[in-house]
Parts: sequence; structure tokens; C-alpha cells
Amino acid sequence: MFAKNLEIVRGQIAQAAARSGRHAEEITLIAVSKTHGPEAIMEAVDAGQLLFGENRVQEARAKMPLLPSRVRWHLLGHLQSNKIRQALPAFERIHSIDTLSLARDVNRIAGELGLFPKVFLEVNVAGESSKFGFTPDALRAAMEELLALDRVSVDGLMTIPPFAPEAESSRRSFARLRELRDRLANEFRVPLPELSMGMSGDFEVAIEEGTTFVRIGTALFGERRGKAWKPVASEID
Ligand SMILES: *Cc1c(COP(=O)(O)O)cnc(C)c1O
Repeated sequence: MFAKNLEIVRGQIAQAAARSGRHAEEITLIAVSKTHGPEAIMEAVDAGQLLFGENRVQEARAKMPLLPSRVRWHLLGHLQSNKIRQALPAFERIHSIDTLSLARDVNRIAGELGLFPKVFLEVNVAGESSKFGFTPDALRAAMEELLALDRVSVDGLMTIPPFAPEAESSRRSFARLRELRDRLANEFRVPLPELSMGMSGDFEVAIEEGTTFVRIGTALFGERRGKAWKPVASEID
């Protein structure tokens, strides 16, 4: 089932890219494996998918030793400061740097661990009070300090638009994230090449609006299981 879904999603990525005059290779597919166990992820690996996204450090760390070392992981969910030390060696990228103080902590701990993490800054473009992320104004105010961090490399921006059943409803948020990136890149003279936006319901719109990373769970794995995967829970399932 994963292999078939992967073929469909890759086809949709290629078509959305072609429609907007882009190359499909500019877009990296992250298979979002939160709640799914190592067997489901292994099926994805066998189908040729090697990059996975997870929301929780502990859930992801429990799966990692059960999967081949060629598998790569991105952290998509909110990172608590007390999990940074566990997260940094495990994830190739963190998409969810959502405050200046978290960025400072990540930078300090990366120094202690001898690492140079690649991160995206999460932006709450629609200003939803329930969401993590910098507001566009807060990000602009923090940008100089973020770019001066000696360990952390800021490669781009990430957003999760307000939930809506229609893919088109996300277009405004995606366009605003791209415009914000363009403004910041220009003002602070940094490339900020990456955009992380687009999930199962709206990734084609995100591609049309310039994303470079799509984060797709349901369209690849099917419906999510109720809660985080745990080694013990899976044994009594
Ligand atoms: C769960 C999640 C996704 C994937 O969502 P789907 O709608 O299942 O594709 C993408 N990004 C983040 C941050 C998520 O938490």
C-alpha cells in the first residue's frame, strides 16, 4: 500500500511542479511517520522512501534503532528545551524553531555536542493564537540575532496553515510565507533557500507557491493511529 501511494504522490508532485514551471527534483518529499510503527516505516523504506518526519523526539528516538541507519529524520513538531540534547544528534533538520530563546538554547547545546544543526524557522503567518511559531513581525525583530548564531544554520521558513478542508484555502498562507522569505532574504542579505510547507491536503498548492519540502503523512501511510507509537504498546496490540 505504501508503494502504491508513493507512486501516486510522486506523480502529483511532478504534475504540480510541471504546472508551475518547476522541476520535481527541487521538491523533497518527507514521509510523516508519526504514530506509525517500525514495520510500516520499513515498508516505506523498501518502497524507496528514506526521509521521514516525526513530531515528537521520544517517539522518533524509540523507532530509530529499529530501522536501517540509511534512514534520515526531520523533526517537525514543537521542540521543548529539555529535549534539545536528545534531538540534535538524531535529526538531520529541525523545522520547528519557533522562538528566539529556543534558537539560543539549540545553538548553545549544539556547541557542547560539537554539532552544526540545520534549521527552519516556524512562522505563524495567519496569527492563530493556538499555534506555535514566530509572527512575521517577531521574526523580523529576531532575525539579526538568529543569523548571528555560530552553530545554527537558518536555511528557510516553515508554516502550518489554519486547518481547512479546501486546499485552496492554504494558498494565501503559503504565498505569505514565500513573500516573507523574499523580504527577509533581501533585507538581511541571506539566501534562505528552503520553504517547508504543504501536507496531504494541500501539497500541490504549496508546490505552486514555491515550497521545497512537502511533509506528507496520511496520503502515504493512510489514516494515523490514535496516539504516539511506543515499543511496549505495539507488543500488546
Ligand atoms: C502530521 C503533520 C504533517 C502531515 O500531515 P498529513 O495531513 O497527514 O499529511 C505535516 N506536518 C506537520 C508539522 C505535522 O504535524
